[in-house]
Amino acid sequence: MKAVTIGKYGNVDVLELRDMAVPAIGPREVLVKLRTAALNHLDIWVRVGAIPGLDLSQPHILGSDGAGEVAEVGAEVKKWKKGDLVVINPGISCGRCDHCLRGEQSVCNSFHVLGEHLPGTFAEFVKVPEENLLPKPPDITWQQAAAFPLVFLTAWRMLISRARLKPGETLLIPGIGGGVATAALTIAKTIGCTVVVTSSSQEKLGKAKSMGADLGIDYTREDVAAVVYSWTGKRGVDVVCDSVAGDTLDKHIQCLAKGGRLVTCGVTAGAKPQIDFRRVFWNQITILGSTMGSHQDFFEIHRLVAKKTVLPTIDSVYPLAEVKAAQKRMEEKQQFGKIVVEI
Ligand SMILES: [Zn+2]
Repeated sequence: MKAVTIGKYGNVDVLELRDMAVPAIGPREVLVKLRTAALNHLDIWVRVGAIPGLDLSQPHILGSDGAGEVAEVGAEVKKWKKGDLVVINPGISCGRCDHCLRGEQSVCNSFHVLGEHLPGTFAEFVKVPEENLLPKPPDITWQQAAAFPLVFLTAWRMLISRARLKPGETLLIPGIGGGVATAALTIAKTIGCTVVVTSSSQEKLGKAKSMGADLGIDYTREDVAAVVYSWTGKRGVDVVCDSVAGDTLDKHIQCLAKGGRLVTCGVTAGAKPQIDFRRVFWNQITILGSTMGSHQDFFEIHRLVAKKTVLPTIDSVYPLAEVKAAQKRMEEKQQFGKIVVEI
């Protein structure tokens, strides 16, 4: 089968379309013939070798998100049959540890992600445990089916399961444009929140406004904390949904109301931010970490996507052979929403 792989860590030039063996499935696994996949920033972290402790056997197939058709099922699989149309939950857990048994699969002691620790979805076929599949909602497109799982699962868990975002609360989403940020905007507006977004791009701020964002701040021209403080009547926002960290994290903590929550899922702007910790205890700020989501989180977001209550924003679509150009677009931060790959 054709697959987009890396043979070593490096820039986009290490991406190579090559022939790989079709994965052999175990008794409780399903082989999926992929129709669509989608990019995530994680693909770039894996490609450049920026994930501590990740030692991959190469060539390694990238890609976490995917949707397609069941091609083959293992001997003990009861739920699926050949020809079923499915979407993939890319977070693979052991099912046996104490975290899995209490339903918290994304803190599993041996949590793995397709394309990160395991062969991914930029390929004609991928194998996954049967419990990592849900039916492809019939009313959404194949592009939407591949675009929603990782980012909507991540954003749903961050906002709803972790930060307990309530209707009517005010949310700040720094760096609007990425997949998780746009998913968070969609979810927050759907449940009736007021949303502030930031970007360095007027075009992205405009697109976010058209999706319902209540205030857009160009962080290169304005002091985000000062604008938020004044716009919220000297109160601050209830929740910050941060996937960037870096030097701006301290500013985002300054944006919080007393008793506010900051939930983080990523460090695209830097992994070792400097923050003034006095503000955290004095203002009684809660900092919450979040990664991917549980099966329960996936069921919940899948249900909303199936009803088209929330849908992913598609930025662009590339054929499998052009993943290099697609990753370049992501690395240059040109995208607004999800970059989809057609297989
Ligand atoms: Zn586990």
